[in-house]
Amino acid sequence: MSQTLQTALTHAGQRLSGAGIEDSRREARILLAFVLGIDALQVSLRLEETLTAEHSAAFEATLKSRMAYVPMSHILGYREFYEHRFIVTPDVLDPRPETEELVARALSAPFQNVLDLGVGSGCIILSLLAVNSSACGVAVDCSAKALEVARRNAAKLQLTDRVRFCRSDWCAEIPSERFDLIVSNPPYIHPAVWKGLSPEVHHEPKLALTDGKDGLSHYATIAHQAHGFLAAEGRLLFEIGYDQGAAVAEILRKEGYRDIAILEDLDHRPRVVSCRARAEKAE
Ligand code: GLN
Repeated sequence: MSQTLQTALTHAGQRLSGAGIEDSRREARILLAFVLGIDALQVSLRLEETLTAEHSAAFEATLKSRMAYVPMSHILGYREFYEHRFIVTPDVLDPRPETEELVARALSAPFQNVLDLGVGSGCIILSLLAVNSSACGVAVDCSAKALEVARRNAAKLQLTDRVRFCRSDWCAEIPSERFDLIVSNPPYIHPAVWKGLSPEVHHEPKLALTDGKDGLSHYATIAHQAHGFLAAEGRLLFEIGYDQGAAVAEILRKEGYRDIAILEDLDHRPRVVSCRARAEKAE
């Protein structure tokens, strides 16, 4: 049965809404545009056109996935983050708006070389390097598949010559080097909380979301290891869960870091903890 884009869109919106998808109309439009290979804004100009059987089948497939709570980024293959579009696969954490706060805070002071621990899609370090065109960096992940996605994103953004990739469990395998900026969005969700998160989140790599312990263990590991990689006045910035500020600040204080600050996003939610390298010990 042939249908116009308008009919297909209305029907799709209703079905997504019925499946409990909040932004159903917008998502239906984006999925239809994706199937048609056009910009979402163009859909409104073509509402009277008839949907071909091929496009109709492809649209149906995307709707089925979405009604099974596959994240939009996995269906579309990308997510917009900060100033760029990043390739996203089920092997990496879906870049989230709250992580843009970490990028903005990292950019608030100069840096020449940056280390990203747990790079995932590459959205943090590549956003930083795209803005700061004189900087270079090292991108670390324990997942070879994640590094592959990050490499593809670096190539897409033409940043390959300024970033090196390293497969490592945090700092264990990285070349000995000092960085004036270290950033990380480690897996910080408590396993009990992870279980209760939306079905979309369960399509993402569990390893990138929870430490399986108390949500804080990776901060402690990184804080301990990072001394050997931070330049004298270097900064370390973590993304944190909104209720982890005090605990992460305490971990950093015990490790001897200076100028520890819990930074809030525009909604006044603590989102980032920043600090400086500990004072050099006199030899
Ligand atoms: N911000 C993500 C969430 O709340 C968690 C990311 C992470 O664990 N690093 O779903």
